Amino acid sequence: MHEIKHWLDGTAVEGTSGRRLPVYDPATGEQQAYVVAATAEETVRAVASAQRAYPLWRAASLSRRAEVMFRFRELVDAHRKEIASLISAEHGKTVADAAGELARGLENIEFAAGAPHLLKGGFSEQASSGVDVYSIRQPLGVVAGITPFNFPAMVPLWMLCNALVCGNTFVLKPSEKDPSVSLMLADLLRQAGLPDGAFNVVQGDREAVETLIDHPDVQALSFVGSTPVARAVYERGTRAGKRVQALGGAKNHMVVLPDADIGAAADAAVSAGYGSAGERCMAVSVVVAVGASADPLVEAIKERVGRIAVGPATDPSAEMGPLISREHRDRVAGYLAEPGAAEVVVDGRSAPVCALPGFFLGASLVDRVPTDSPLYTDEIFGPVLAVVRVDTYEEALALVNDNEFGNGTAIFTRDGGAARQFQYDVLCGMVGVNVPVPVPVAYYSFGGWKSSLFGDLHMYGPEGLQFYTRAKVVTSRWPDPATSEVDLGFPKVR
Ligand code: NAD
Repeated sequence: MHEIKHWLDGTAVEGTSGRRLPVYDPATGEQQAYVVAATAEETVRAVASAQRAYPLWRAASLSRRAEVMFRFRELVDAHRKEIASLISAEHGKTVADAAGELARGLENIEFAAGAPHLLKGGFSEQASSGVDVYSIRQPLGVVAGITPFNFPAMVPLWMLCNALVCGNTFVLKPSEKDPSVSLMLADLLRQAGLPDGAFNVVQGDREAVETLIDHPDVQALSFVGSTPVARAVYERGTRAGKRVQALGGAKNHMVVLPDADIGAAADAAVSAGYGSAGERCMAVSVVVAVGASADPLVEAIKERVGRIAVGPATDPSAEMGPLISREHRDRVAGYLAEPGAAEVVVDGRSAPVCALPGFFLGASLVDRVPTDSPLYTDEIFGPVLAVVRVDTYEEALALVNDNEFGNGTAIFTRDGGAARQFQYDVLCGMVGVNVPVPVPVAYYSFGGWKSSLFGDLHMYGPEGLQFYTRAKVVTSRWPDPATSEVDLGFPKVR
């Protein structure tokens, strides 16, 4: 059984705490490796390493930093298969899905490589007589990222590319459940020419996270994970005076209007509901069937659910893999055991794959879910799609807007006016019009509203660059000493 190590000062190092956290193969249920949870001292070492590297990396020219991103992109691209297999082996998602995650991650590297253009400041010549005013954006220093299990490559890439290209140095605390990819990314960054210490990885859990939050040299925290932890990280980080963006959980509603193409809507609901076994923050977890769409839609989804091939990532015909852990699988299955007034249309617990030793649960469909039941109110984060039936668009909109979360949502309709009205009315950060998983491309930014994001700035893209830099405005004059005089008045523009 091997240890998945930390990465400090450009090299992999063993943990010292003796507190081993297991890493499973979700397809077999067997433990395959472990991480040694970082102590506060080890985490402090990682911050010190990043702090030492900061002056050197900050001084690297913009074109040099962009060049590292270009090389990093080439290296990640060349190792696509290896990285995707590593993701699948620890997360359980299919290799094709893992490759899809990586492709979205690559977009973030490409975006960051354009930083010389994107970090240009403003310049106002002759703002006053002989006075020029200009703005520049400077890096923050050491920044930290804390990431969830469900996207072990993409979410770190959402953060680290922009952070590094802006001249910051970085400490990553990846999920302890699928930590290997973090080391691969660290090694590829090293090969791409990033100086040692500019990127560090501490494996572990809450102790490492809280040490990062409290450390005075950590200037900003980017977090992605569940809402209770996102809220706690945001509150503790901002109390310490730090810049924090903390993305939380989701309950994404897909509204289907009566005029929608039922076949296309069912295809979309099934793809977005069960892809990655529902363990995506942008997964559709509630289908809101409006009016007459409900009966044919539930029938069409049911028919498709029956055809989903569930199996280990090593089976090339599998479309959906296991869940991340036994506890999580049992928790998700619990919602099917106690459906209350809801009607379980397809019960994934009876899928043949559940007889395998891995953490499998078949795709499940639950109709007529009451909006006060845990099936509706909880983020389930598994292959359980809930259907809520309503009579009108207004009722559908109210459901989305009253929900605690506001990550993504989608509307399915052939009525452009209705779609535009939805886009205008809905209280959500990311909206799809006939697109069920509206993850923005890398040159926009990603973020939800309400309990799906604590903080002001969305992640990656232009808002990511803003997050990882702070503004400085310079007012400059080169006066003729002969015209100099004492003037106690308030500085004025002439
Ligand atoms: P999680 O909140 O359990 O863990 C996220 C990270 O926080 C991990 O690195 C973990 O080690 C750490 N952590 C866990 N408990 C902690 C604590 N008490 N104090 C400090 N750190 C702690 O989330 P997860 O189970 O890894 O990921 C799934 C969750 O992430 C879901 O809720 C999902 O919706 C959310 N998610 C959101 C987005 C988004 O963009 N909004 C993206 C991906 C995942």
